[in-house]
Amino acid sequence: KAAGKKTFRVFTPDMEFRLYERVRLEGKLREALTEGKGLFLFYQSITDIETGRITAREGLIRWYHERRGWISPVEFVPVAEESGLIDELGIWVLNRACQDAAGWDDDVRVAVNVSAKQLGKGTLATNILTALVRAGLEPSRLEIEITESALLADELDCLADLRRVRDLGVRVALDDFGTGFSSLAHLRSFHFDKIKIDGSFVQDAIQRPDCAAIVGVLADLGKRLGVTTVAEGVETQAHLDLVRAEGCREVQGYLLGRPAPSSRDVPLVAALNRL
Ligand code: C2E
Ligand code: CA
Ligand code: CA
Ligand code: CA
Repeated sequence: KAAGKKTFRVFTPDMEFRLYERVRLEGKLREALTEGKGLFLFYQSITDIETGRITAREGLIRWYHERRGWISPVEFVPVAEESGLIDELGIWVLNRACQDAAGWDDDVRVAVNVSAKQLGKGTLATNILTALVRAGLEPSRLEIEITESALLADELDCLADLRRVRDLGVRVALDDFGTGFSSLAHLRSFHFDKIKIDGSFVQDAIQRPDCAAIVGVLADLGKRLGVTTVAEGVETQAHLDLVRAEGCREVQGYLLGRPAPSSRDVPLVAALNRL
């Protein structure tokens, strides 16, 4: 309709195929969730830049699809969000993360990505508490990460949910900081414990002094607010040197460790990768 009266769009075979693929993917994901098969939580370390100690591990979901092999969360998390499967997926991730973290050293937290679609329903804090109790994990060992670009700054129900989570003693991090339209408004409407500076700033900072300045300003902002800043996407020694010089507290990226399966899943993942 937007293209005007004289033109019209047909439902092309290509669109039909994509829709068909999507419906199939959704069905398979539902199956994977109900049978608990094919889903894995990989972990990537987050390191204190001064001491070199691991402070946390971030859980990153992976899906092995029987026909297509590994599918990226970038592809299937949106499918889960649009089909309503995200709540079930989120609960699966929370339970798995808390169980795994219960077996780690006490001073290492687990960070879990939470979709903005899981917020505003009044259920997140209960789901988190259930997962913690089941695993016997202290709330202070859990951190949730909310993606900035998906967060609506003044959505009251979302803020209420985040507050309930924080009241449990669970830490809340703002992910992909600097990529959204209202980064500072987010910091004003909620007290985050951590901000994660998007990897794109870190990677561009090597070539571009303006991007290095942004990283520095965000690190200062974190210091003044008493909030931990994490630089994401640290791939090289040059990246590490730069974010240290700019004052970031923690670092995450391929240089310090790639996302890897938990020890329980190592043999299965290795076998799948040999197929
Ligand atoms: P994110 O939360 O920003 O996670 C960081 C992404 O950067 C991960 O991609 C990670 O593998 C990748 N990465 C880590 N270090 C480096 C590096 O040095 N260089 C580069 N270029 N990339 C690096 P991944 O695992 O494909 O996840 C993509 C996104 O999917 C995540 O972005 C997150 O938004 C979402 N996601 C992952 N797991 C979950 C989950 O359990 N629940 C939800 N709701 N979303 C998830
Ligand atoms: Ca994240
Ligand atoms: Ca991120
Ligand atoms: Ca991201």
